[in-house]
Amino acid sequence: MKNIISKILPNSLAEEIGIEVGDILLTINGEEVKDILDYKFLMADEYIEIEIEKNDGEVWELEIEKDYQEDLGVEFQKSIMDDAKSCHNKCIFCFIDQLPKGMRESLYFKDDDSRLSFLQGNFVTLTNMKDEDIDRIIKYRISPINVSVHTTNPELRKQMLNNRFAGSIYERLVKLSKAGISINCQVVLCPGINDGEELVKTVEDLYKLYPSVENVAVVPVGITKYRQGLANLKLFDKESAARELKNIRDLQEKYIKEIGTPFVRLSDEFYVTADAEIPSSEFYEEFHQLEDGVGMIRIFRDYIDSDLKNLSKDKSGKFTVITGKSAYNELYNASKKIENVNNKIKIDVVKIINNFFGENITVAGLITGKDIMEQLKKDQAGDYIIIPKNMLRSGDTVFLDDVTVEDLEKHYNKEIIVCEYTGEDFIEKINMYSKED
Ligand code: SF4
Repeated sequence: MKNIISKILPNSLAEEIGIEVGDILLTINGEEVKDILDYKFLMADEYIEIEIEKNDGEVWELEIEKDYQEDLGVEFQKSIMDDAKSCHNKCIFCFIDQLPKGMRESLYFKDDDSRLSFLQGNFVTLTNMKDEDIDRIIKYRISPINVSVHTTNPELRKQMLNNRFAGSIYERLVKLSKAGISINCQVVLCPGINDGEELVKTVEDLYKLYPSVENVAVVPVGITKYRQGLANLKLFDKESAARELKNIRDLQEKYIKEIGTPFVRLSDEFYVTADAEIPSSEFYEEFHQLEDGVGMIRIFRDYIDSDLKNLSKDKSGKFTVITGKSAYNELYNASKKIENVNNKIKIDVVKIINNFFGENITVAGLITGKDIMEQLKKDQAGDYIIIPKNMLRSGDTVFLDDVTVEDLEKHYNKEIIVCEYTGEDFIEKINMYSKED
């Protein structure tokens, strides 16, 4: 009963032919649909026959003529029409292993499913896949696919992922790249383990697979206070972060000369930790790696600078902006730029220390509602409180600790404004919520 239709998109094929929520997709062209890949593959035709089981048990056989790429325009109860595959690793840096007990159950699920990579951009390690699964990616053209590489050194990868099957990553990437699958790669960098020369070697290996490997994002390991019984890991400090920036800068310069793109980019945290200058927007090109925290500061800064001209000059307001330690300076500077253009706008940027996960976690996206309520005093809050959207569960109004935006609004008796983490709507929101003089 897995292919239950949960939503019919407006003006879709499904709506036109009378498919309804609760109906079940049984077959396409006589074949059982095992998952979303089967569905996409079997739907890719101009003529198809489908079997639908209606709510009352009646089975409809429908013949459909359509555009080649058009699908039914439905959503299924299970987004991948199957249970998500969990990972077979025990990575030394796994964030899920460092979560405190008692959080919502879904946060502990370790997915490692290429279908989620295709649909939602999740990163996969390719370690829980048989050769047939890799062939299926190729057959069904799952592209691009996001791969957590960490290192191309087979022995080191086995150690880092605690998985004896993790060493064949490079052969698998070569196979995918030869088949024309686009791949985005990610490296979680652990000081003293896969950094320095190991990182250079990994990036150089991946570069050989360009353009199939489109880019590499390097993010620093995150360490919470819940690491009892786990591997001993260090964090990057100013010196070690600067060293990685330098190592990678040499490669980036070489790649820019050869192929016109830096190919590998380090996340913003490296620049903040090393106190280094943030690269220009040209360096980040289309900002494809924002989900990895690559280029967020640049895009935020550029939006603020370009939108300052749109700031209303005849309005006033008092705002409190919530953030973590790593983005504090950036937001503080942005608030000063805004106040300089209109001194009737007052913005207080409040840095929240992450007591929930531990002080080493400094990104705004992992701040919890409880930490905000404990650290921002009621009488300190302005007329409105602004929080970045990435603090909340995707498409929802819930913080990681299940506190809701509504809870926060009740606590402060103020409206909470949720802003894009790119800064796109920051000045727009200030204008919207400021008062006419
Ligand atoms: S692949 Fe590694 S980091 Fe990802 S969930 Fe599994 S153990 Fe954790």
